[in-house]
Amino acid sequence: MQKGAIRVQTENIFPIIKKFLYSDHEIFIRELVSNAVDATQKLKTLAGVGEFKDELGDLAIEVKLDNEKKTITISDHGIGMTAGEVDKYINQVAFSGAEEFLKKYKGQSEGANIIGHFGLGFYSSFMVSNAVEILTKSWKPGAQAVRWECDGSPEFTLEDIEKDSRGTDIVMHINEESEEFLDEARIGAILRKFCRFLPVPIMFNGEQINITNPAWTKKPSDLTDEDYQNFYKELYPFSEPPLFWIHLNVDFPFSLTGILYFPKITKTYEIQKDKINLYSNQVYVTDEVKDIVPEFLMLLHGVIDSPDIPLNVSRSYLQGDPNVRKINAHITKKVADKLDEMFRNDRKSFEEKWESIGLFVKYGMMTDDKFLEKANKFHIMEDVDGGTFYTIEEYKQATLALQTNKEGKQVVIYATAPVQQDTYIQAAKAKGFKVVKLETIVDAAFINTIESKWENVQFTRVDADIADNLIDVEEKKDSVLTGEQEQSLEALFQSQLPQPNIKVNLKGLSADTLPVIVTRSEFMRRMKDMAAVGGSAASWYANMPDEITMTVNANHPIYQEILAQVNKEKQEKLVRNLADLALLSQNLLTGADLTAFVNRSVELMAGEQK
Ligand code: ADP
Repeated sequence: MQKGAIRVQTENIFPIIKKFLYSDHEIFIRELVSNAVDATQKLKTLAGVGEFKDELGDLAIEVKLDNEKKTITISDHGIGMTAGEVDKYINQVAFSGAEEFLKKYKGQSEGANIIGHFGLGFYSSFMVSNAVEILTKSWKPGAQAVRWECDGSPEFTLEDIEKDSRGTDIVMHINEESEEFLDEARIGAILRKFCRFLPVPIMFNGEQINITNPAWTKKPSDLTDEDYQNFYKELYPFSEPPLFWIHLNVDFPFSLTGILYFPKITKTYEIQKDKINLYSNQVYVTDEVKDIVPEFLMLLHGVIDSPDIPLNVSRSYLQGDPNVRKINAHITKKVADKLDEMFRNDRKSFEEKWESIGLFVKYGMMTDDKFLEKANKFHIMEDVDGGTFYTIEEYKQATLALQTNKEGKQVVIYATAPVQQDTYIQAAKAKGFKVVKLETIVDAAFINTIESKWENVQFTRVDADIADNLIDVEEKKDSVLTGEQEQSLEALFQSQLPQPNIKVNLKGLSADTLPVIVTRSEFMRRMKDMAAVGGSAASWYANMPDEITMTVNANHPIYQEILAQVNKEKQEKLVRNLADLALLSQNLLTGADLTAFVNRSVELMAGEQK
């Protein structure tokens, strides 16, 4: 038997490994199973190049639990190690055998798939063990099997043993603090988390726990829609089917594969982040993909796999990593290209999915100028009447004549609550305007942001002003009333205003326009909306009185009657009722004012009967 001291640079590295290597102790399973997978893949490579000539046999890796001996054993039938290799690869900490192997077999397909870049992988077993044994027999013809053991001090033993099968058993003698890992359910859960898609069969309790060739590792041309849908079901068994997906497949200048799914988003906005899982050569790494996936695509589901993303480094470092930045930009571009393709190839189905897709597209346009540039072509707005969608270009063409204001800006007229704003919508439509629906949670923010990005476009809510004024074109109609009549009508309204913050504005509109229209300034309303959402700088606006304009249409025939009314009291009541009606249509009449309005209306109607 050989005895020796492990040649580590630092005097005693084990306590450090134990405590600080990984805060998450459960990853020792990932590290050791990954080593077993590597050893198996290496053997396949050797067989591929003809160096290994025997039968490969059953290559499944087995994870075994022994509750009496308090051990966890991981066995593989990979390349194994000779005594010399154990000394070299295990005793010389931080000497990565995988690195050497990769150099030697660069360009071979299996060789490229070696996971050995987690660093101190094997030594993570000491986080949970009092002692670790390695029983191993190399693939080399006539190799002598050996047993290495170390109790966590730098001293180890190495001796010859009898071992029938090729490959390696790692036996961990679990320490007292880590007995939780001797629980079958716990190990099963850890295996399913980290090893679910490893490329070599992993057996636990007589069952294979992994899928060795998950959809993302296949060529897109070899997959049907059903394959993609089934893989989605595999990942998220309780979710509704996805809307569509994007298969990522790059190998230069970085390596990236994966499938990103667009989930169906319901009106209730049960948005779930952290639904994308990051893998490295099919080993699960994390579900925290911030920085790797652009912020606006965090709502997507699926898998990305890249051995080029640094794993054991801090988050802040990740942000600055050039590969991470490139991958982020690549994903953005792929998503934009896919959406563009869908829009051009099957616009109808694109429009049907817009409710869900629109959310991503709008977030993307707001936060990423590269995406915005592409998305301008497929971002669409739906007409309030439903079924008709316009890109911004199409909307411009359709409204060029009627909706260009005096500054030459195209005015997009929108509704946020089509039912509630129906009076205004009808008035705008009567003037030939096109009103679009912008009613989702992102729309308010989208409008604010996009106005500064889209040149010569301005958004105006359909109830921001009377229809005649929605497009600021500087044109005036005369009122049919005499100056004197106008004065007394204005005075009447001033005396009857139910709220002090209302501005009265007499105008000569067309006779079939409503007699009184209440509007709230676009600017003030947006500020108050934003303040309500909780922007601290804007909170000042929340306390501002609303800026309400009451436009009195002097040309409406009702005023001829009202002005001719000799009963002063009735005249005032009629005016007050007109004002209340207009407020009511904007949801601005409440409480005692509303009660008074109802009573007054009944009274006026009873008077009519007499
Ligand atoms: P890494 O996997 O990052 O190279 P490890 O400390 O996990 O680092 O392993 C060191 C080396 O020990 C590996 O590169 C490999 O050569 C060898 N090794 C570890 N586990 C096995 C195994 N199950 N079968 C064969 N060789 C192994």
